[in-house]
Amino acid sequence: MGLLWAIPLLLIGLVIGSFLNVVVNRLATRETVVRGRSKCPHCEVELQAWQLLPVVSYIVLRARCFKCKEPISAQYPLVELATGLLFVGVFWLFDTKLQLAEVLLGLIAGLATEWIAPTLFFVLALVHVAGLVVLFVYDGKHQLLPDVVLLPLLVVAAATAWTHPLLNGPWWYPYAAALAGGGFFLLLFIVSKGKWIGFGDVKLGAYMGLLVGWPGILVALFLAFVSGAFVGSILLLFKKKSWGGRIAFGTFLTAATVATWFVGEPIADWYLGLIGLG
Ligand SMILES: [Zn+2]
Repeated sequence: MGLLWAIPLLLIGLVIGSFLNVVVNRLATRETVVRGRSKCPHCEVELQAWQLLPVVSYIVLRARCFKCKEPISAQYPLVELATGLLFVGVFWLFDTKLQLAEVLLGLIAGLATEWIAPTLFFVLALVHVAGLVVLFVYDGKHQLLPDVVLLPLLVVAAATAWTHPLLNGPWWYPYAAALAGGGFFLLLFIVSKGKWIGFGDVKLGAYMGLLVGWPGILVALFLAFVSGAFVGSILLLFKKKSWGGRIAFGTFLTAATVATWFVGEPIADWYLGLIGLG
């Protein structure tokens, strides 16, 4: 049953991932995402329809533009593949906890109100995943979390978190988590006068809280700091970054948010057991 849904979701994810690449590129140049064919960033030749095929065209073209032969960034196939796999992963998550495969079959068989909510939250989760992928790549490239992406997602999450079927505890838990995540970064922002982190991280902290709830936010922050410190020290070791250079912390925060959906519960149990609260 799972595979029946996994393959179309993987394909949809690949195509959406291809679109997310365009969003990341055009956010930087302030171009509209709805008009104009994709172009080679080097020679500006417009891509043919078949060259818009995710991952496949990258392999067929052997990572080079068909006209100017300049290398094509690995960002393209990686973002496409990551989005495809994340879409399947989110489906697996919803299917494990809410029997989504049955819900969708029910929805196809005949619209019933009890199937609408899980389906809606599943589609919303895909939207959030797509947004997190854009924030991840954009922050990695430009050390900036664009408001035009982050703020609408924040509003949608705030409007729906109180009734989210995958979040634990009473309705206000995700809002407490948002206060904790946003408040923590606001404190760091004020203490360091904006030197350690940007204000975008404060908004992202609140958004994370709404997505992973309580105690998920603790797990997400823990994962972000551990992976950030790990990657940061490797970069320092190979002299890629100096202590003064800002590390793109938003990339670690967005990755940790997604990771928390999948491994948050075992990590929370392990940690609470460790400090004697489990
Ligand atoms: Zn070219």
